Amino acid sequence: MPDKVAQPLSLYVHLPWCLRRCPYCDFNAHAWRENLSELPEGRYLDALQADLEASLPKVWGRSVSTVFIGGGTPSLFSPDAIDRLLATIRARLRLAPDAEVTMEANPGTFEAQRFAAYAQAGVTRLSIGVQSFDDDALRVLGRVHDARQARAAIEEAARSFASFNIDLMYALPGQTLQGLRDDLASALAFEPPHLSLYHLTIEPGTPFAKRPPPLPDDDLSADMLALLGDTLGPAGFERYEVSAWARPGARCRHNLNYWEFGDYLGIGAGAHGKLSFHDRIVRETRLRQPQRYVDAALAASPIEEERIVSCDELPFEFMLNALRLTDGVPAASFAERTGLSTAAIARECAQAVERGLLEDDPLRIRATPLGLRFLNDLLELFLKNDNRR
Ligand code: SF4
Repeated sequence: MPDKVAQPLSLYVHLPWCLRRCPYCDFNAHAWRENLSELPEGRYLDALQADLEASLPKVWGRSVSTVFIGGGTPSLFSPDAIDRLLATIRARLRLAPDAEVTMEANPGTFEAQRFAAYAQAGVTRLSIGVQSFDDDALRVLGRVHDARQARAAIEEAARSFASFNIDLMYALPGQTLQGLRDDLASALAFEPPHLSLYHLTIEPGTPFAKRPPPLPDDDLSADMLALLGDTLGPAGFERYEVSAWARPGARCRHNLNYWEFGDYLGIGAGAHGKLSFHDRIVRETRLRQPQRYVDAALAASPIEEERIVSCDELPFEFMLNALRLTDGVPAASFAERTGLSTAAIARECAQAVERGLLEDDPLRIRATPLGLRFLNDLLELFLKNDNRR
């Protein structure tokens, strides 16, 4: 089994409210107004504190290298609330001196002075959910902000944070190549250190799944992906993960830890965690519904499900993350992070190499460009793994 102390540890904090739900969203996000009167932010912070305190024995002695405050829309929380949250974390966990502390923000909740106050509280990196600079597209996506608000939010983020990310989506309903070109040009005008570019997908159970909007076909989607490379490469960005592009030195360390199969503690409604112990790797999920989560956390039992990841599941789980990275990971990290021998995946790796999906490199586990394009086919090889040990 992996040496837990040697593994990097991250902390994820989920703040599960949004002004309203977007029709494509399947995250654990709840409409803010419905809950505001019953569940003020102070009580939610009390619950997070109780959750963290109950979790401490699981991460005792370990240093935390990154924190990610995600949602939902964390920027609905006041700077004072974020200040209290980070003080709670710092008082209970050993935060590395150079820890990356990311917070998600949406332009619809933007007030100019808030971003500087978040930075003052200790947030080092802001991730802004812009999605598009086209007002018509934003309306179809059900976003609460417009392009003018998005621009104002990015300008303020650039003033307040050394590092920030802009989230954009592509293959939007009715989007053309020129429309995407315009969105990229708008984003690049702010010289962001990091861009996340997500292909819009229709998730089961969402309003978009019930009434699908007209989406670009596969050929146009492929042309859009090619356009990202043609535009962002010359602008100084490297695609280091399926959806993540960064300038040198600006990769998101928190997300890298997920993809490199590191450990993370997740607190907050519906948060997921993955923690290694000397004899097992455990995944845990908190209760999703905010009120139930708060009541349970204050009674020291916010966990809905806790399960040991079996040895049979570990190769797929590792690959599901590692193969998203365009550089892959050192081959030795498979044994370090899973506690299994590389022999456990030798046959599947050989098959993937033969099919041109995996690089033939004994020192790295890395998808070929073809493997990255057909990632599901590549992953399927490891899903079927029967790991004879
Ligand atoms: S703002 Fe983000 S988290 Fe909230 S509903 Fe929209 S997509 Fe979901």
